[in-house]
Amino acid sequence: MSQPATQLPDWAIEARGLIKTYPASKTAPAKTALKGIDLAIPRGSIFGLLGPNGAGKSTFINILAGLVNKTSGDVKVWGIDIDAHPRSARAAIGVVPQELAADVFFTPRESLETQAGMYGVPKGERRTDEILNALGLGDKADAYVRQLSGGMKRRLMVAKAMVHNPPILILDEPTAGVDVELRRQLWAYVQSLNDLGVTIVLTTHYLEEAQALCDTIAIINRGEVVACEPTVDLLKRFDSRAVLITPKAPVAAAPPLNGYESKLRPDGRLAVTFRAQDSSVEDVLAAVRAAGVGIQDLATEEPDLEDVFLALTYNDPKAAAPTDY
Ligand code: ADP
Repeated sequence: MSQPATQLPDWAIEARGLIKTYPASKTAPAKTALKGIDLAIPRGSIFGLLGPNGAGKSTFINILAGLVNKTSGDVKVWGIDIDAHPRSARAAIGVVPQELAADVFFTPRESLETQAGMYGVPKGERRTDEILNALGLGDKADAYVRQLSGGMKRRLMVAKAMVHNPPILILDEPTAGVDVELRRQLWAYVQSLNDLGVTIVLTTHYLEEAQALCDTIAIINRGEVVACEPTVDLLKRFDSRAVLITPKAPVAAAPPLNGYESKLRPDGRLAVTFRAQDSSVEDVLAAVRAAGVGIQDLATEEPDLEDVFLALTYNDPKAAAPTDY
């Protein structure tokens, strides 16, 4: 990999004041898709880039990959300024696109060799077999791509993005339309690549995926970063929990509880919310008993990334995007 920087950068990707305005066309007015984004992606992380449709995720990724020109702002990829050294910056990134663009007439080996040729990787430095083996495609190296399963094709896409040995891999919706088992397999691959030191940037519609995989998450909404922090901290921001109580005898209305909000759900259960840092389930149960309600059964509800995401992005019902999740 050719790069002017000799030291490893702290940030795999660094964007400062990044603005992108798409010019007006005959059918649409000008659109500012990124409104001055500051984003620093730590080297070695698995970084989730989340946001509703139209938030600006693809625009951001395409600028990193050199496919879209920014309007203004500074971007460094692996410490390399994309204006000063566009080719070196591009070489530091492998992008796994959303769509399965299968070269049906190629074998995986040919596909990787062609890709390596496009990146100018000399024959003696190619790692075709190594990459195919790492992605569990070693025994399919000489099969036609059309004979591969969907999961194998997706792994081939990851393999192609790695031929030039980039320290950063961008996965755009890697598990869209992929079944649960394969999704877990891909997560394991992503994790093993990360263990080898590859920084992973992931966009996903599946908040569960981001929560399981990403150590740091940025949420973009309408061209602005509305959150960027370690996943655990993001979840802690919303530490409200609920205890769901099935009363021994049906109650007609939620009783007033000392210090807690309670609601009667349509299924007859009482949902009592509390903040984990202030109270415990024990305290809640004591308050319920004190209000004269016998407890037949109980369950608890934890907040998840979905709650956080909705709270940070749900600002316009007409935007409709949150319901996509
Ligand atoms: P996301 O990937 O988060 O769904 P995009 O980056 O694709 O968001 O889009 C951000 C905004 O920029 C949207 O309003 C979209 O309509 C607009 N946009 C994206 N690409 C273009 C383009 N080539 N020309 C004009 N507007 C665009």
